[in-house]
Amino acid sequence: MTKILRLVLGDQLNSQHSWFALPNSSVTYLMLEMRQETDYVTHHIQKVVGFFLSMRQFAQDLQEKGHQVYYLTLDDPQNLQDLSAQVHQLVKTEGFTQFEYQLPDEYRLDQQLQACCSDLGIPCQAFDTEHFLSDREFLTNFFKGKKSCLMETFYREMRKKYAVLMDGKDPIGGQWNFDADNRKALKDRSLLKKPRVHPKEVAHITQLLAASGVNCIGNIDPTRFNWPTSREESLEVLQYFCEELLVHFGAYQDALTTWDPYLFHSRLSFSLNCKLLSPLEVVQTVEAYWSRHQDQIGIAQVEGFIRQILGWREYMRGIYWAKMPEFGQLNYFGHERKLPDWFWTGNTKMNCLSQSIQQSLDLAYAHHIQRLMVTGNFALLAGIHPDEVDRWYLGIYIDAIEWVEITNTRGMSQFADGGIVGTKPYVSSANYIKKQGNYCSTCAYQAEKKTGEGSCPFNSLYWHFHARNRDLLEKNPRIGMVYRTWDKMSNRQEILDQAEDYLAHLKEL
Ligand SMILES: Cc1cc2nc3c(=O)[nH]c(=O)nc-3n(C[C@H](O)[C@H](O)[C@H](O)COP(=O)(O)OP(=O)(O)OC[C@H]3O[C@@H](n4cnc5c(N)ncnc54)[C@H](O)[C@@H]3O)c2cc1C
Ligand code: SF4
Repeated sequence: MTKILRLVLGDQLNSQHSWFALPNSSVTYLMLEMRQETDYVTHHIQKVVGFFLSMRQFAQDLQEKGHQVYYLTLDDPQNLQDLSAQVHQLVKTEGFTQFEYQLPDEYRLDQQLQACCSDLGIPCQAFDTEHFLSDREFLTNFFKGKKSCLMETFYREMRKKYAVLMDGKDPIGGQWNFDADNRKALKDRSLLKKPRVHPKEVAHITQLLAASGVNCIGNIDPTRFNWPTSREESLEVLQYFCEELLVHFGAYQDALTTWDPYLFHSRLSFSLNCKLLSPLEVVQTVEAYWSRHQDQIGIAQVEGFIRQILGWREYMRGIYWAKMPEFGQLNYFGHERKLPDWFWTGNTKMNCLSQSIQQSLDLAYAHHIQRLMVTGNFALLAGIHPDEVDRWYLGIYIDAIEWVEITNTRGMSQFADGGIVGTKPYVSSANYIKKQGNYCSTCAYQAEKKTGEGSCPFNSLYWHFHARNRDLLEKNPRIGMVYRTWDKMSNRQEILDQAEDYLAHLKEL
C-alpha cells in the first residue's frame, strides 16, 4: 500500500499549493517545531512566535479540510529536534513508502534534505513551492552572456512577462521607474495611519520557549502579538495597505522619522516569506486597486511598491541561487570589526541608530531605509565583518530568511559581494539622514560637524571608508566624484584622525 510522507516547512504555508487541492488518505503532512530551526541563529522572540503560531494555524486548517497532519510541538517527547533524524525515524517506524518535500528556499535546508534523501531507502521527490514568479535558475539563465545583471533589466522583463502595469508593450505612465519622485521626507504627521494589527495572546508559546531554554533576542508583549499569522489576517493587512497606505507609499518610502515605525510600508514581508500570500496576488491586488482609484493614487506610488516585489524580491532570490554558497563568504573590503554591543540594546547616543535598533528590538521590524541607510550604513562605514552583520539581520527581523536576508545584507547593504547586487556601496554621511527625516534634530551629535567634540560619527567615518578603500572604489564611475571632492578638502587628516578615534571607541558612541 502506498504511504506518502510530505514535509511542510515553516516557511511553506501556501494553502493554495496543488498538494492541498484534495485530501488524500495515503498522504500524511509532516510539520515540525525544531531546535534545529530555533537555534541556527539567535532569533528575535517575535520571529519564533510568529513562525510557530502560523504553523499551528496552518496545520489546524489542513486538518479541518480533511488532510492528515503529523505535527510535533517543540516539547513533544517524540520530537528529535532534527529534520533528517525525524524523517528517517518516521519512515522506519510508520512504514512510509515515499517521501516528498517542497524545494526549500534556503541553501542550508536544501543540502540537508538532499543528504537526508540519499540514504532514506525509499523514493523521494521534490516539488516546486508554487510561490515565486521565477524559478531558482531563471536569473542565472536570464543574464547568461550579458555583461551586467542589473535588477532594473530583470524587473522590466518581469513586468512584460506578467503584464503588470503595462499598456501593450509599453509601461503604463510612459516610464518603467518613478524612483526619482519617491524620495520625500515626511513633514506632515497627520498623514500617518495606524497599522492594521491582529492582537493575539501568545503566552503559551513564550512559556514553551522559556521552558525549553530557547535563547532569543528582543521584546514581546505576550498579551498582544500583532503580526498576521494566517492567510485571512494577511489578506486583511493587504487590503488595508491598498485602502489606507498605498496612496503615500512611494512618496515616503525613503523617509525616516521618530513619529512612526511603519510609515506607509505594508508590513507584508512575513506573510509573503511564509507564503501565506503569493507575490502575484499581492501585485495584482494592488494593481487592480490602483486601477479603480487612479483619480486618488498616483502611478509613482503603485510602481514603487510593485517594483519591490516583482523586482527586488524575485531578483534577490535569483542572486541567492546563482551565487550560493560562495556568496555567504564574500568580504570585499576585508572588514574585521565586531558589532558594538549596543546593536543588542539600542543604547547609543546616535539617535538614528538608537531609534532604529530600539524599534527593531520592540517590533522585530524596521523599514527598508532604516535597515539600509541607518544600521547597514553604519556597519559598513565602521568596517564590521559581514558575518557579524548577517547574523544580526538574520536574527532580529520577523521576515528574516536567509535567501532574502543575506542578499540584502551582504549584497545590497554591505557591498561585501563587490558589486553583484548593487553598482556602488549604499553609504552616506549625516547629510542624507538629516535630509530624510527628524532623527538629527534631537541627537547628541551634530549632523553638520565633521570633526571635534559632538561631530556626527557618520561624517568622518564616511570619508574614512572612502579613503581606506580607495584602490577598490576609485575606478567605479559612480564614485569618482566623491574622490574629486575629497582631494579638494583641506582638513583631510583631521577627518581621518576623528574617524580613527571613533573607530577605537565604537562601544562608547
Ligand atoms: C540590510 C537589509 C536586510 C534586509 N533583510 C530582509 C529580510 O531578511 N527579509 C525580507 O523580507 N526583506 C529584507 N530586506 C528588505 C526590506 O527591507 C524588507 O522586505 C521590508 O522592510 C519589509 O517591510 P514591509 O513588508 O513593510 O515592506 P514594504 O516596504 O511595504 O515593501 C513591500 C514588500 O516588498 C518586498 N521588498 C521590499 N524591499 C525588498 C528588498 N530589498 N528585497 C526583497 N524584497 C523586498 C518585501 O516582500 C516587502 O514586504 C532587507 C533590507 C536590507 C537593507
Ligand atoms: S546627527 Fe548623526 S548620529 Fe545623530 S541622528 Fe543625525 S546622522 Fe544619526
